[in-house]
Amino acid sequence: MAPEAAEGAGAPCFDAAIIGGGPAGLSAASWLGRYRRSVVVIDSEEYRNACVEMSHGYLGTDPAPPAELRRRARQEVARYPTVTFAKLRVDRASGIRDRFLLSAGNETLRARRILLATGVSDEYPEVKGFFEHYGASVFHCTSCDGYEAKDCDIVVFGWGNQVTGFALSLLTWAASVSVVTEGRHLEADHADRDLLAARGVTVIEDDGVELVGQRGGLEGVRLASGATVSCQLAFFSIAHRPNNRLATELGCTLTEGDCVDVDGDGLTSVPGVYAAGDLTPGVQLIANAVAKGAVAGIACAQSLLGDKP
Ligand SMILES: Cc1cc2nc3c(=O)[nH]c(=O)nc-3n(C[C@H](O)[C@H](O)[C@H](O)COP(=O)(O)OP(=O)(O)OC[C@H]3O[C@@H](n4cnc5c(N)ncnc54)[C@H](O)[C@@H]3O)c2cc1C
Repeated sequence: MAPEAAEGAGAPCFDAAIIGGGPAGLSAASWLGRYRRSVVVIDSEEYRNACVEMSHGYLGTDPAPPAELRRRARQEVARYPTVTFAKLRVDRASGIRDRFLLSAGNETLRARRILLATGVSDEYPEVKGFFEHYGASVFHCTSCDGYEAKDCDIVVFGWGNQVTGFALSLLTWAASVSVVTEGRHLEADHADRDLLAARGVTVIEDDGVELVGQRGGLEGVRLASGATVSCQLAFFSIAHRPNNRLATELGCTLTEGDCVDVDGDGLTSVPGVYAAGDLTPGVQLIANAVAKGAVAGIACAQSLLGDKP
């Protein structure tokens, strides 16, 4: 079941091309491999969670470094002889059912099905030392890392109207929560401000300029005013955007939140194009990405049934 040459072009043609080799893409690849389909997993290996020390809550591995999870998953998927990997960044995607074309630098690939699993990108607070602490003492997801905030003093970076709920939810675990708005006005009405005050959340409409302490030992946030807010962990809630450019090029419908709209099988509005993981609506966790990848991978494989593999 080696990829066959596409008509009129020397580019290799696969049953399915999966763009993105995170949990969703690898999960889809394993199921397509089990259906004996020729699959290429194209991954630029720009991991959003590259600096994360531990991923939590994925049963059977809780906790585990994400790099270790990836390594094990890739090793398992590589057992299927019809699955290949390509370290490439796909720049362009075009085509219709059964005839899709992907460009990645000088490389061109053809596929009968596309499965998009390109994830999301985050916006980070502009504070010195951020990346030194990111993934060790600085996080963005309360479900993923809230438990690690138990009994700690927490700083939340953010100013949007979602920050009130974000900060209040951290009180499930934290000893104290202070919101630092990066010098902006907190987008909260009087009722929200009263609620924050009533629950003991401090709002500091100042700019956080530097994280103080060593990786794994955050001590506080130095403000533009010169004061330091003491904390052991920090969270941020600014924005993250689905990596939906290829989906848009292919003509896929997006949701209000700019995720790729899919049905219960992970099929997009474009026949032959599937999507899974954080790129699609829903809670952004490894377990969910793996589940969505499995559903989309199986549906994609079954859509090819009847054809000679
Ligand atoms: C800091 C942090 C901490 C987290 N902690 C946890 C946790 O504790 N527990 C938990 O369950 N979840 C956690 N998550 C969330 C979890 O990592 C995601 O939900 C999960 O990785 C989503 O999987 P995905 O496959 O959809 O996307 P991703 O894992 O983001 O993978 C997307 C892949 O697509 C590739 N890609 C993108 N565009 C292209 C392109 N054009 N061409 C080729 N490749 C491309 C990228 O290189 C990347 O490898 C955390 C996330 C972050 C950022």
